[in-house]
Amino acid sequence: MQIKEILKLTPEGQSIVVKGWVKTKRGQSNIVFININDGSTLKNIQAVVENGKISEDILKLATTGSAIAVTGKLVASAGAGQTMEVLAETIEVYGTADESYPIQPKKHSLEFLREKAHLRFRTNVFGAVFRIRHALAYAVHKFYNEQGFFYLHTPIITASDAEGAGEMFRVSTFEPNKAPLTPEGNIDFSQDFFGRETALTVSGQLEGELGALALSRIYTFGPTFRAENSNTSRHLAEFWMIEPEVAFFELEDNMNLAESFVKYVISYALENCKEDLEFLENRLLEEEKQKPQNERSELKLIEKLKFVVENDFERLTYTEAIDILLKSKPAQKKQFQYEVAWGIDLQSEHERYLVEKHFKKPVILTNYPKEIKAFYMKQDDELNGAPGATVRAMDVLFPGIGEIIGGSQREDNYEKLMARVKEVGIDPENIWWYLETRKFGSAPHSGFGLGFERLVLFVTGMTNIRDVIPFPRTPKNAEF
Ligand code: ATP
Ligand code: MN
Repeated sequence: MQIKEILKLTPEGQSIVVKGWVKTKRGQSNIVFININDGSTLKNIQAVVENGKISEDILKLATTGSAIAVTGKLVASAGAGQTMEVLAETIEVYGTADESYPIQPKKHSLEFLREKAHLRFRTNVFGAVFRIRHALAYAVHKFYNEQGFFYLHTPIITASDAEGAGEMFRVSTFEPNKAPLTPEGNIDFSQDFFGRETALTVSGQLEGELGALALSRIYTFGPTFRAENSNTSRHLAEFWMIEPEVAFFELEDNMNLAESFVKYVISYALENCKEDLEFLENRLLEEEKQKPQNERSELKLIEKLKFVVENDFERLTYTEAIDILLKSKPAQKKQFQYEVAWGIDLQSEHERYLVEKHFKKPVILTNYPKEIKAFYMKQDDELNGAPGATVRAMDVLFPGIGEIIGGSQREDNYEKLMARVKEVGIDPENIWWYLETRKFGSAPHSGFGLGFERLVLFVTGMTNIRDVIPFPRTPKNAEF
């Protein structure tokens, strides 16, 4: 039985077996306390070894980090910090761990633990983070299933580099130095495995659209890859993305979907991960004690999550946002590193000003300049006060995170899409199949992409994206 289940029992002296890893062992010769954790919950269970019940030889092997099974009686505990404990009768040691075990019972920095990613799951912090990550992933599927969406598996290897979402990783079976060449001296990809250039996907959207234009409501939830050379705390080279795509949805519906989706999964975590969230909240409070008062968060972790669930996201156009930014104190005092002007791609300092200083809540920005957004976004017919052409894009910005969702209504008009494809220099031959959906039964449709790790970052209150994915892939790092 897992510790999580054992802790739900009424202790009445029943026989029980506890299996897990030793967190701590303390005590004297006549009584020893062993704290065991099996990862099913944050909580440990304490095994009590009374005088001479277990041979010294075995007991001495049950050190921090070792894997053991304790058989004994489950009894009520008089000690502080637990309601029940196991009176040990036998202990089996599956695997020992000597003093070189890196996760000794003391405080470890997250940076240190990143180098011990193979063992960091055994810490309270990472146990909590990955249990919450699981709960969020489950909630994603639950939400879309309840809303009538179908989970569509889009390809991981793709030949369409059309989206331009990021630099791609090549997929090839050529030996680095032995790739066949064409008479002109270029690499001859026609001889490669797929007979053409292929890469790891940066987004499942284009294929997702094909699904939506038949099944009406689909979502993807899979790994995406971007050879991002920026070493930030919000970018990974391999991350998981959730991309719903819905036929007959316009931008407004898309915003409503994004908002209710995010609120749903956060509520799910609040309801189902209370203990882990409380633990992470306290950890954060401890960490913030080192910071000056003005840098500390106004809300505690759980308050912040509830705030997001209970309040409407602020919705405004890019043009309105630029106005606010131009009039802002940091712009007037020239404190932004990047100058604000209509047409710029908003930098994270601008996004953070809007979300954290101006509105103090999640924000959805819409109707971005056409020039800074992808070719497939639906072009606005009217300017609506903007000084230049805009598209029906929407970005959802979150405090502390910046962009958590990027989406749009898609261009459904064949001629307009084709013109834009040519304008940005994409070879229509490369995405003929995508373009055909606009020739046969085209329909308004919309969708977005949510970076799963950015969501996990927000919910757990962690600050570095490397700490919310089990095995982070970042520039110069693919250990484990
Ligand atoms: P950013 O400007 O932050 O790099 P983006 O504009 O490249 O994001 P999109 O292409 O719209 O992002 O991707 C959709 C979502 O995927 C983003 O809103 C974000 O949550 C997430 N995302 C994008 N790139 C990364 C990355 N390198 N690592 C983790 N998540 C990412
Ligand atoms: Mn990016």
